[in-house]
Amino acid sequence: MSSGAGIYFDGVTSARREVVVELAPAGLKISSRDGKSLAEWPYNEIEELDARDNVLRLGRLGSTTLERLEIRDPAFAAEVDEHAAYVDRTGSLRQRQRLRVIVWTVVATASLLLVAWFGVPAIAARLTPLLPISVERKLGDAVDVQVRGMLDTGKHDTAFECGTAPAEIPGRNALNKVMQRLEVAAALPIPLRTSVVRRDEANAIALPGGRVYVFRGLIDKAENADEIAGVIAHEIGHVAHRDGTRAILEGAGLSFLFGMLLGDFVGGGAVVFAAKSVLQSSYTREAETAADSYGTDLMNKADADARALANMLEKIGGATEPGMTILMDHPETKARVAAIRRNAASRPSSPLLEPSEWAALKKICSGL
Ligand SMILES: [Zn+2]
Repeated sequence: MSSGAGIYFDGVTSARREVVVELAPAGLKISSRDGKSLAEWPYNEIEELDARDNVLRLGRLGSTTLERLEIRDPAFAAEVDEHAAYVDRTGSLRQRQRLRVIVWTVVATASLLLVAWFGVPAIAARLTPLLPISVERKLGDAVDVQVRGMLDTGKHDTAFECGTAPAEIPGRNALNKVMQRLEVAAALPIPLRTSVVRRDEANAIALPGGRVYVFRGLIDKAENADEIAGVIAHEIGHVAHRDGTRAILEGAGLSFLFGMLLGDFVGGGAVVFAAKSVLQSSYTREAETAADSYGTDLMNKADADARALANMLEKIGGATEPGMTILMDHPETKARVAAIRRNAASRPSSPLLEPSEWAALKKICSGL
């Protein structure tokens, strides 16, 4: 049934009209018996008003006039109830909302107790490895939208992501070739998604769930494909160790995690906060060392030149992520560089790219 009978008061005159009410895709269409259109009420602007039993009385949400519609046929009233966003005769919406409040109260109480007992970092560290990959991926996607928005200054005529314009495609193909080598060697349970973006810093960032952004500034500074691959391998280390996820859980707290588990976090303020914590906070020295070590092993495994990561770290002062401070000639950076050189395979590596492919990768942001 897509239409039924109703009684309509236009709110201006006191006339009581017998009308035909039609359930149109966007709202209720109210017409007189002879087919003259009287009103159209979008489904999200309809509210239920008090009425005696077995009459559904409706009004326009926020309306100041006394415009009313009454429906007496219970079957048709139920159909209108289904469509109208704020009409809830059967009480199912109210019941769902009540259940939600209960769940959230329990969750909030439980997280407060856990936090009081263990402290947030310890809980984040314990929970991170338990997080299902699908949830991590979902978290990564939600954070990605925010991170992109924060990174994209809009100060360029071309797309934020390099490698999409015709002249940039060969560069994108060269990057894919590098990524293919690294991914096979890494054998992660999730596929990586790597892009070069128009940012001037010599930097890169990994998000939860396998998204890696390489900034154009890093491509500019690199002298060969191994130097790019080395930094990406370091970032893959953060993905494999779930450092980004842990940082978000620490920064945004437990309610965020529980919200995520309940599938209710996308688009909330917590995601903005999470994106900021990914962009602004830096990892601990231990996490950086572990990512270096992972990156070195990965480059060795991929038969690439791991020493290139050390060279690049020297060039960029150890800052491989946006939140890190540049520590040129700093003992910390020197120690990282030395450790990478120590663990890099000394055997000759096979080049990641042909010279022509490397030239193409250098032009991945040419914008033409
Ligand atoms: Zn790092």
